[in-house]
Amino acid sequence: MKIIFATHNSNKVGEVAQIIDHEHINILSLSEISYHEDIEETGSTLNENAWIKADHIHKLMGANVIAEDTGLEVFSLDMAPGVYSARYAGPERNSQDNMDLLLHNLKKSKDRSARFRTVIAAYLNGKKYTFEGIVNGSIAMSRQGTGGFGYDPIFIPEGHQQSFGILSSDIKNKISHRGRAFEQLKKTLIEL
Ligand code: IMP
Repeated sequence: MKIIFATHNSNKVGEVAQIIDHEHINILSLSEISYHEDIEETGSTLNENAWIKADHIHKLMGANVIAEDTGLEVFSLDMAPGVYSARYAGPERNSQDNMDLLLHNLKKSKDRSARFRTVIAAYLNGKKYTFEGIVNGSIAMSRQGTGGFGYDPIFIPEGHQQSFGILSSDIKNKISHRGRAFEQLKKTLIEL
């Protein structure tokens, strides 16, 4: 089964290929189908943005399509940056600036608890599905490691002492927001 993954983020494509890892499921990124335009994420929730991306590609291609949107939600900041995680420090979408701003905004906070949340919107054989995955954890006092992407160096998942920037991709994929959401998608795909 061929599925188009409506993203230009090669980190996400790599993670999802590792999570799905099934001989009959072939995930194609937008660049693999020669679609190079950006899809504007104008929604005010992760759910809305995931469906904006899935709807857009489904209308164009009419195929099996998945899209996901992820946000880092910090409890003491009223769940910010949330849906604005990519643009937290400005429209340049710079991960280093985003982490600096978050660390700065948490300087006086005793509560550093946070979670990553992923929403997947999917068109599979003409039917619509939504999946969600969450990993709870906390924001480190400073960067730890250089692995992963985005906010990984400052996010320590519950039950671990090290950030996603240090933990292996195998461990991240097993326990992460995206890992959990895509495991549900995989289960559904196998049952189809
Ligand atoms: P989007 O889902 O591509 O809009 O990503 C939102 C923001 O969250 C971006 O700044 C990403 O770098 C960040 N992000 C998404 N997934 C992860 C992850 O697994 N680890 C760390 N940061 C992430």
